[in-house]
Amino acid sequence: MKVTIGYLYGDLMNIYGDTGNIITLKKRAEWRGINVVVKNFSTANIMKKNDVDIFFFGGGQDQQQSLVASDLASSGKGKIIKQEVERGVPLLSVCGGYQLLGEYYKPHRGPKLPGISLFPAYTVASDDRMIGNIVVETQFGKLVGFENHSGKTYLKDGEYSLGIVIKGFGNNGADTTEGCIYKNAIGCYMHGSLLPKNPILADWLIKKALEVKYGKEINLEPLDDDFELLAHQQAISRFG
Ligand code: GLN
Repeated sequence: MKVTIGYLYGDLMNIYGDTGNIITLKKRAEWRGINVVVKNFSTANIMKKNDVDIFFFGGGQDQQQSLVASDLASSGKGKIIKQEVERGVPLLSVCGGYQLLGEYYKPHRGPKLPGISLFPAYTVASDDRMIGNIVVETQFGKLVGFENHSGKTYLKDGEYSLGIVIKGFGNNGADTTEGCIYKNAIGCYMHGSLLPKNPILADWLIKKALEVKYGKEINLEPLDDDFELLAHQQAISRFG
């Protein structure tokens, strides 16, 4: 089997170790004998339907977000991403990438940046810098990560939240929600990078990608996750 990981704006949106998510997806698939191709889709690239089996969209500062927001709209990539998610293609987005998948992101300076309205959410930059370790209770169990954002994200319907904050700030530091999940697309504020310490989520993304691509149920063979789960547990016992 083969899986193509679409790295959205990897040259512009990849802060706080977010590229580690690409490495984790690639290795966990390859360790199971799955061929992996990683394709960067940035401002110079054309995207077509069926090009990508898993989307990853990392974090970035306001300046990069402004560039990316206009490309998502003008290049048609935003429309394609929405269509692909609608048919079940999995997606993971973190922080700045997550913010651009909502309705809009209002930075400190300048006009609102339009999002693609994949998630029923909007984000407004704040004077608070939300930094630190985060632990969230989700459908995947506890997820652990590191957050660093000033943007506060508000969900238009709480039922789409990825989970409830146990430790940390989450979407906005007030309503205890963290992230958003719609079909197989996830947005969150968990840098770190997220997937090395949360192998269950990495495998869920790979499984969903293969099931959509090959049209059948896929059961991934288990891997030796002792180190990953030790790191996960350590983070929970220290921070959560
Ligand atoms: N500029 C956005 C914020 O600070 C996103 C930053 C990031 O991706 N860490 O909220």
